[in-house]
Amino acid sequence: MATNPTTLAPRAAEASRHGLDSESLQRDVLENLVSLQARYPAIATPHDWYMALAYSVRDRLLVRWVETVQSYAARDVRIACYLSAEFLIGPQLGNNLVNLGIEADAREAMLALGQDLDAVMALEEEPGLGNGGLGRLAACYLDSLATLEMPAIGYGIRYEFGIFRQAIRDGWQVEETDKWLQKGNPWEIVRPEVAYYVNFGGHTHSETDAEGRFRVRWIAANQVKGVACDTPVQGYRVETCNTLRLWRSEAVESFDLADFNVGDYYGAVEQKVVSETLSKVLYPNDEPEMGKRLRLAQQYFFVSCSLQDMLRLLQQKGEPIERFADVFVAQLNDTHPSIAVAELMRLLLDECGLQWGQAWDITQRALAYTNHTLLPEALETWGLPLFRGLLPRPLEIIYEINRRFLDEVRQRHPGDESRVSRMSLIDESGDRRIRMAHLATVGSHAINGVAALHSTLLRETVLRDFAELWPERFHNVTNGVTPRRFLALCNPGLARLLDQTVGEGWIADLTRLRGLEAHADDEAFQQRWRAIKNANKEALAKHIHSATGVAVDPRALFDIQVKRIHEYKRQHLNALYIVALYQRLRREPQLALAPRCFVFGGKAAPGYAMAKLIIRLINGIAEVVNNDPAMEGRLKVVFFPNFNVKSAHHIYPAADLSEQISTAGKEASGTGNMKFMMNGVLTIGTLDGANVEIREEAGAENFFLFGLHAQDVERLQREGYRPADHVTANDELREALELIASGHFLRGQSDVFRPLVENLTQWDHFLALADYADYVACQARVDAAWQDPATWTRMSILNTARSGKFSSDRAIREYGDRIWGLAPMK
Ligand SMILES: *Cc1c(COP(=O)(O)O)cnc(C)c1O
Repeated sequence: MATNPTTLAPRAAEASRHGLDSESLQRDVLENLVSLQARYPAIATPHDWYMALAYSVRDRLLVRWVETVQSYAARDVRIACYLSAEFLIGPQLGNNLVNLGIEADAREAMLALGQDLDAVMALEEEPGLGNGGLGRLAACYLDSLATLEMPAIGYGIRYEFGIFRQAIRDGWQVEETDKWLQKGNPWEIVRPEVAYYVNFGGHTHSETDAEGRFRVRWIAANQVKGVACDTPVQGYRVETCNTLRLWRSEAVESFDLADFNVGDYYGAVEQKVVSETLSKVLYPNDEPEMGKRLRLAQQYFFVSCSLQDMLRLLQQKGEPIERFADVFVAQLNDTHPSIAVAELMRLLLDECGLQWGQAWDITQRALAYTNHTLLPEALETWGLPLFRGLLPRPLEIIYEINRRFLDEVRQRHPGDESRVSRMSLIDESGDRRIRMAHLATVGSHAINGVAALHSTLLRETVLRDFAELWPERFHNVTNGVTPRRFLALCNPGLARLLDQTVGEGWIADLTRLRGLEAHADDEAFQQRWRAIKNANKEALAKHIHSATGVAVDPRALFDIQVKRIHEYKRQHLNALYIVALYQRLRREPQLALAPRCFVFGGKAAPGYAMAKLIIRLINGIAEVVNNDPAMEGRLKVVFFPNFNVKSAHHIYPAADLSEQISTAGKEASGTGNMKFMMNGVLTIGTLDGANVEIREEAGAENFFLFGLHAQDVERLQREGYRPADHVTANDELREALELIASGHFLRGQSDVFRPLVENLTQWDHFLALADYADYVACQARVDAAWQDPATWTRMSILNTARSGKFSSDRAIREYGDRIWGLAPMK
């Protein structure tokens, strides 16, 4: 362990073996083709070439990785641990080439070997270890932490099956299992020696130890082993290469043996199967209540492995347990890892023998919590019987945390028992449930929302009582996205123009894009800007054609809404507008509307019937519109299947208009909105999530705003909202709803979309109809702006120029300054 780093990674040898020039890359690719894929060029498959190149790039990461890990072990640094049940990291090869600065050399090397780099990169399977925005945020943050050279480890779960693949059959979503590991994963390094045991079930036993101290032992019914699977995370053009450590569950050998010895071979095998099932599959979110036992087990499993790993690293650094919170700070990405509050306490009390007060002080200093949602149905709670059955000891600790916490509340607010029950970690109304957001809040020194509006609403609604008690613990850190992946890698044409215009520094300091403002009205510059956008649109048109068979005209306005399908995100509002447009164009073929191509993409949770119906509706509209000769050259509708990071690379840079139309107050931040903005896409949106800040940065005149404000939404719902009034008042809306209900978009089957239309006219929980008229009026302003290319292009340039705030580098600096007490090493 204490080996001198220079003897481990001799940079002299590296010069020949891990050179960054195209000759040494070419040599290593050839060598790896033989030594790892057992192929020679004449019989190598395209995938063999991908693997050979991936391994060659990985070798170049490993030298940096080993040195980074050693430097964290040797130096007195605080390490940020990002705990997240999801890391939607996307394909690795292209990003690693960009961050190492060897994309051009790799292209040259592969060309010399008769291979096209883009074709090779396209073969990489997507590691779909996340649902959407939350998982992608975690991945962007890892990129920024490494780029800013901040000591960090990402901790999560190595799912064998990631988010399902979405196929569209007869217009409906069909889920297929995601076998992303089938052909091997060249980026992963498994470390069988880094493994921990995690308890489940059983009971506890208290005793007084030899020193007369009260101790609790957890006698578990079974144990699962977690094995570390590491992925290197290379920073952009720096020596730092951090670690993403994902835990894979395995059966514990001794347990099998014990059963085997008493002759229960099948019992032993069953136990093994159950243990290995733990990290089998990622749960799609937005599901209604379902078999959640396994999900709680997954959360506890990865949290326990991660905390045990941190304790081991502390020991390796030769630091005493009392220094835990000086060496580590753990950010909880939503409540999924919030069991860390109880588990860290358990490890400190039961395993390390600390007293309650000291353990609690360490826990609070070490943990911080990011809230991602205000939707009541999305706030995690666990029923007590389930929790007790799986985690008896952590439950005892939660009871004790709650007892002490509620004493504090009672002292502050004597006689206010309704406040006590509102704030309790246990919801006593109905069946008793543990409120994970309360647990995370009580156990953390810092709590943050993910956009200014969301953080304000968080303090005023869901965590109001807590914000009153500890105002100093509440923060806002507006989300960000990495400009390496979502600009440099996915939009090389624009990246080149940015390099030439403001210098290459923009990639590590996105605020430098401000330098574009001076060129916003320059006609020649505008022309180059448009040419790049058009090339991206042509490329997307090809992808659309091969994925759906629909031919779209790149000259049309590309109006795009890609994100998970959810009623609060209101894809159905967009769909209603398309139906209205379709009817207008049929009635008045002379209408001077610009040609538009609407593109949708996104997965619906398999158990979310309404979301799946919305997908069917969009596909129904697409079928009718795209096959109507009268719509030719005017209107196209596309549902792009299986939206993921890989397809996102083609989609964000090719959009003209970004649809960010959630009900105000419902979208915590959004990050898709930021990716579009960086790529010069104009937003049509509500004052929700980070849209508010996007509009502030871009300037109100460069943003298409519509819709109710969050306070209006809250008031309407409180006072009684009647969607039918909007239908009566608006003939176009009524006719659109009638056409949908008639079955016109489902070959005359009139029953299928009824529930959707009835839901809208009777309840409309997300106020689509209340915002409809304003949305349509706003779309008319979009049309007018688009018809004047100079105006539109100027707005597009200014959006990119002013997107600097939305770099994840800014967000990570804020976490470092305000929450982690951790400065960039640079
Ligand atoms: C950015 C991203 C998201 C989040 O999109 P929102 O519009 O913020 O909901 C979801 N999925 C993928 C693949 C992404 O890249």
